[in-house]
Amino acid sequence: MQTLSQKLWNTAECHAHMVLDGVDFRVALARHESAPEENFIRRTLAAYRDAGITYVRDGGDTSGTSVRARELAPEYGIEYRTPIFAIHKNGFYGKIVGKGFDTLSEYRALIEEVKKAGGDFVKVMLGGILDFAVYPQINGGGLSAEWMREMVHIAHEEGFAVMAHVNGAEAILAALEAGIDSLEHGFLQSEESLQLLKETGVVWVPTISPLMSQVGDGRSPDDVLRKYGEEQMELVHRAMKLGVKLAPGSDAGAYRVPHVTGYQDELRWMLAAAGDEKEQMIGVLDRGAREIAARFQRD
Ligand SMILES: [Zn+2]
Repeated sequence: MQTLSQKLWNTAECHAHMVLDGVDFRVALARHESAPEENFIRRTLAAYRDAGITYVRDGGDTSGTSVRARELAPEYGIEYRTPIFAIHKNGFYGKIVGKGFDTLSEYRALIEEVKKAGGDFVKVMLGGILDFAVYPQINGGGLSAEWMREMVHIAHEEGFAVMAHVNGAEAILAALEAGIDSLEHGFLQSEESLQLLKETGVVWVPTISPLMSQVGDGRSPDDVLRKYGEEQMELVHRAMKLGVKLAPGSDAGAYRVPHVTGYQDELRWMLAAAGDEKEQMIGVLDRGAREIAARFQRD
């Protein structure tokens, strides 16, 4: 594993949340509540550096933690990118790492806020979250295709690439049609959504770790976790065969996905998904990570 991961371009963690710690999200959020906790951020950046990881794309938070990480990252030789906070429509999933809106003018105001804070790209929540207790079940989804189109369009108009959290084939199809630039999670795909992924050239970050790393933990039923995780690995394999762009991102900070080791696990799962074609997967991930790094910054 170590030798294979070293071959990956710079080793790029394409989906992480500095504000979370992989253990307890309430404790983690409280840690940075009054101000980003610099010791935690420095420790985490040092761990990334020591593991040879030189690029981190954050998924956002509401406490300025990823912004502070971006400021400190050059000291550790790390290129750190952040959307500042993630954006969700009120009533849908996304509150934990972002800000909500009700109307389009409120959405525009949030985009303006991202711009003022020097956001590198926009992160939007266009779908719900998997129910780890039930397969297949997505909670907090159901945003309409029209909203997705408006949200992506406005972000693009302001010169931002769009990192989109989406699950479920129907929502994925709508998000791809809306013009997103990267698909995050993307569980429960269909052959049709994989085909559209291929056609659009959108980069898929399948975040297998949050499922597979919880197996045996006891919080959620192992058979459900495995079902989601193994299905995702089959879809990743199929995607690779189709020529879909894939990039490694673990959703580091999510429960049971610590920074650094969560990323290393993610590489392991992606390579496991490739079966006998590990060399091909390494090339695919290498190109996908480069594309993420190139696209997810402001011109
Ligand atoms: Zn995330």
